[in-house]
Amino acid sequence: ARRPLIAGNWKMNGLRADARALADEIGTLRKNKSQDAFDLLICPPFSVIETVGHVLDSTGIFLGAQDCHTAEKGAHTGDVSAAMLKDAGCSHVILGHSERRTNHKESNELVKQKAIAAHNEGLIAIICVGETETERENGKTLEVVTAQIKDSVPEGARADNTVIAYEPVWAIGTGKVATPDDVQNVHGDIRKTLAAKLGQETADGIRILYGGSMKPENAKELLALPDVDGGLIGGAALKAEDFWAIAQSC
Ligand code: 13P
Repeated sequence: ARRPLIAGNWKMNGLRADARALADEIGTLRKNKSQDAFDLLICPPFSVIETVGHVLDSTGIFLGAQDCHTAEKGAHTGDVSAAMLKDAGCSHVILGHSERRTNHKESNELVKQKAIAAHNEGLIAIICVGETETERENGKTLEVVTAQIKDSVPEGARADNTVIAYEPVWAIGTGKVATPDDVQNVHGDIRKTLAAKLGQETADGIRILYGGSMKPENAKELLALPDVDGGLIGGAALKAEDFWAIAQSC
């Protein structure tokens, strides 16, 4: 069975004092309940990774980043390598988020190279895919998502170094959520595409998260779907009680 992963993507939010307070609140909730049946992950902005990491020490909550470069080091002004993330205490890194694919023109090939760099450092790559509203309206959802999986997931992906996040772009930060039927349909298809690429056993072990306006009110229904193995949460991850309530819905 796949252990659910509830991941908070803080995006570009969190000055040090707020980040520390939020991590501390979530950490306290987690510490008081040591036997829960899910993994928790927090992905803060680069600037507060170490601050948050110190707060999360001994809470059992994983620490992750929101991007990395393909190279280990060198002349890449403004970039951060997977080795640096590892060194800062990260175990996970989100790659190919739609905001990066859009704002930074990240291609499937680039996302794949970043995932390879993450794997080489022993990081777990959370590879994001998802269709835009126009693609959905044109009936292209499965086509787009299948191509993203084929081209952004490295051949060396395994259940213990790779997580997929399905985030329909039109559902991110909009309050709109895909219907459970649609989510299960896409997740099932993603697993089939993974099986064709990596073998059935690997595909069966890889966790596929849903992301896009997940909140306490809709989490239970989404997390109960057979191919939904957790959530990648934006807005609701910035409130400790909401993030925790979503995790409690596993
Ligand atoms: P929201 O939960 O704010 O819709 O964001 C989802 C997301 O993009 C997580 O990576």
